[in-house]
Amino acid sequence: MGRGWVVLGLMFGWGAAGTLATGARPPQESKTQPASRGNAPPRLRLRAHPTVALTFDDLPAAGGLLPDDTRTRIASTLVGELKAHRVKEVYGFVTAEDLEGDSDSQEALRAWVNAGMNIGNHTWSHPSLNSDSAAAFERQIALDEPALRQYAGRRDWHWFRYPYLEEGNTASKRDEVRAWLHEHGYRIAQVTLNFEDDDWSDPYDRCLVQHDQAGIAWLKQSYMENAAEFIRVGREEELIAFGHEIPNVLLLHETAFTTLMLPSLLDLLDHDGFRFAPLAKVERNPAYAIDPGLGLGDGGPLPYEILTARHLKFPPFRPEPVQHLDSVCRQ
Ligand SMILES: [Zn+2]
Repeated sequence: MGRGWVVLGLMFGWGAAGTLATGARPPQESKTQPASRGNAPPRLRLRAHPTVALTFDDLPAAGGLLPDDTRTRIASTLVGELKAHRVKEVYGFVTAEDLEGDSDSQEALRAWVNAGMNIGNHTWSHPSLNSDSAAAFERQIALDEPALRQYAGRRDWHWFRYPYLEEGNTASKRDEVRAWLHEHGYRIAQVTLNFEDDDWSDPYDRCLVQHDQAGIAWLKQSYMENAAEFIRVGREEELIAFGHEIPNVLLLHETAFTTLMLPSLLDLLDHDGFRFAPLAKVERNPAYAIDPGLGLGDGGPLPYEILTARHLKFPPFRPEPVQHLDSVCRQ
């Protein structure tokens, strides 16, 4: 049990180490579960003005790329949209393997950094710690560093985002990599809000190729509905996990579909009263120092880990429309 857990346990009167266990699946991964609306409890009361740091994973090459598009166009468009909305110092997490011999990807990363955005470590080639050994995973993190050093210059790139949010399926593996990260000056870029935005990337590319406007309209609508749903769910999970909402970190991906949707997503966050803040400021909140200290078979945001560790009940939610996403624009 980590020290943070002891503190939280004292604050909320929780039991001791025996309550830590794995098993529950996160709402974000509940793609086969039915919605549990039947006996839904009353909605939890949310803050009028929550805080959020946006983050983008899998730079410089998230998702597929159509022949007439470029990574540079995607990155440049996204930073333009962020700047138009006065969102600054956004972190993008880099897998440097995608830079190798690809001038478009290299230019895309330069466009991101030159626009004033930050970069952090996402491993060299995006392995899961749940399937790699701790030593192999640490080599993957170290392999990513020369590119980060090259592109970030003097800016702080010592932030680490776990691929798939998987922090290790055993407690010992999890602890070993966390210790390595700490020794090497990294902070973990935890996530509190995740709506699986990249699941819309491949369907969008298919619909675009087929000029299927009805398909694209459905993708846009369902993306926004799913974003609204899981942003709410993440905030309600925080209320259950911590007793109050904490400043948030939202996970997004740098895909072509994101360039289409980001302005609407930023408007949704405005509408919900969100205020934007840099990652380092958000993660100063003590909740981010909590280490549930258990191995998990699934990856998930921080509130998910805590609810799982504590056997707490997840709030009700409407599942992501995975079946329609899989079938739309398939001929
Ligand atoms: Zn990733």
